[in-house]
Amino acid sequence: MRRSLAGSLGGLLVAVAPVAAQEGGPGILVLENARVWTGDSAVPEARGLVIADGRISRLLQDESTLGFPQDVPVHRINLGGRRVVPGFNDAHTHFFDGGFALLSPDLLTSDTPKEFVRRLKAYADGLPAGRWIDLPAAWDHERWPGHPLPSRQLIDPVTPRNPVWIRRPDGHIGLANSLALEAAGITAATPDPPGGRIDRDPATGEPTGIIRDASELVRSAIPEITEEEYREALDAALAHAAEVGVTSIQDMCYDPGSVGIRLLEEYAREGRLTVRVYCRTWLGDWTEEADAGVRAGSGDAWVRRGSLKAFADGALGSSTAYMFEPYADNPENRGLLDAVMQPPDTFFALAAGADRAGLQLSIHAIGDAAISLVLDQFERVVAENPAWDRRFRIEHAQHMAGKDFARMAEMGVIASVQPFHAIDDGRWAERKIGPERARTTYAFRSFLEAGAPLAFGTDWPVAPLDPMRTVYAAVTRRTLDGAHPEGWVPEEKITVEEALRAYTAGSAYAEFAEVEKGRLVPGQLADLVVLSEDPLEVPAERLEEIVPMTTMVGGRFVLVIEESEAGGPSQPR
Ligand SMILES: [Zn+2]
Repeated sequence: MRRSLAGSLGGLLVAVAPVAAQEGGPGILVLENARVWTGDSAVPEARGLVIADGRISRLLQDESTLGFPQDVPVHRINLGGRRVVPGFNDAHTHFFDGGFALLSPDLLTSDTPKEFVRRLKAYADGLPAGRWIDLPAAWDHERWPGHPLPSRQLIDPVTPRNPVWIRRPDGHIGLANSLALEAAGITAATPDPPGGRIDRDPATGEPTGIIRDASELVRSAIPEITEEEYREALDAALAHAAEVGVTSIQDMCYDPGSVGIRLLEEYAREGRLTVRVYCRTWLGDWTEEADAGVRAGSGDAWVRRGSLKAFADGALGSSTAYMFEPYADNPENRGLLDAVMQPPDTFFALAAGADRAGLQLSIHAIGDAAISLVLDQFERVVAENPAWDRRFRIEHAQHMAGKDFARMAEMGVIASVQPFHAIDDGRWAERKIGPERARTTYAFRSFLEAGAPLAFGTDWPVAPLDPMRTVYAAVTRRTLDGAHPEGWVPEEKITVEEALRAYTAGSAYAEFAEVEKGRLVPGQLADLVVLSEDPLEVPAERLEEIVPMTTMVGGRFVLVIEESEAGGPSQPR
């Protein structure tokens, strides 16, 4: 089996599919001999789909009922009985960051300085001269025998043309090569900045390249990311999304008028966008959005906006999620509330204004006390402002106070959650929050039972973009360390169908797009995925092995996998 993008295939699908069935294209595309999970409770299953003008025009239950107008070409593709689901809609991504991460080398997992240098060389050799190598989480000398700190002398020979500024995962220590030190004007004569330190050779006093808690010394010399680099990142991210079956994203976080939004709109105009994007901007910029006429869900089928992000607190990993009770491993600490919540009236003023202007609120809240506080402010907004279909969102909604499930449901607040975190953080979360709070943590079943709308996403690149890994996480709750084969807090497991619904119709609702997408029914956009195996049939522990064979966005194939064996997924007649 070979993976490839449709555009690179010399074969049959390329000839017919890009022109047929997509928006404005002539012809009708029939996907037959399929098992379609429509996501629609009225007609949950179909045997095939008819696609015209980029949308689903009909469901097929029985192939004998085919009957098409004579004057347009009809392309029929036999899917060999495979499962088709609506395209996945990731409700929380950082798409450009994800693209940059895809383009970055993996230096961190090098187990010796020699291997680290080898990988750095391979990467640097492929870059244009002068391009900065500026990477977070790029090395960890604790992994190396004897734990020697690296130095500029270690990396100078393999980076003769590119300034280098690469950090340890903790973000506190960075390594610069000589070109970077030169560009930043750091010499033996440079004094240590307050709170930071430039490591120096004890014999000569010259900087070694290691700089501690003073990244601003180097950062000021690094040029802004160029438009060309953004394009490279976007191209990489789009290709990856097609590969894993993601057809829509709800992305963080843009400045109004930023290069990211401009590029997405340009790609959309030129027909090069293969993912639909709901761009979220910062709550603090709400008047700019409102003045520009942006409202919740404004835009076209490709690039939309009108949702605003703010942080209420930090995260569990850094013990900054804001909790009612102290952390189990640190009785002094309850986490940190973001400045915009101190006092909450600051947040309320912004939130009420944005809500009155018809903009949606997507608020990051992870700790139980932060979530409660955001819900309090949402209640004030509801009480003060005229009623409308506002669809408040809490991003992450990770550690819930038991009393707040019902409150979220009552106000219709969307839980925008990332199940992969449950099996990743689940390895150590209980150490930080204790067993009692763990019971209402990543509580997907409880949201559904309370009746709170659920939308699935990943926070890519924090977690993998691959939706089947997220579905696996929500259904099995098996932590990555293998410590919970029956699931961590197994009462909170959900079914495959519930997970698929949260990832398709649930996410579409969260972006005011449920009329356009999220189900495979007549009138909806032809965004879909053909899967290698049926998630409704495979054992749960194998869900993460399922891969897309075909991804389609708006009636256009953006991924087609050729199979070596006969009778693969693509047999146009
Ligand atoms: Zn995020």
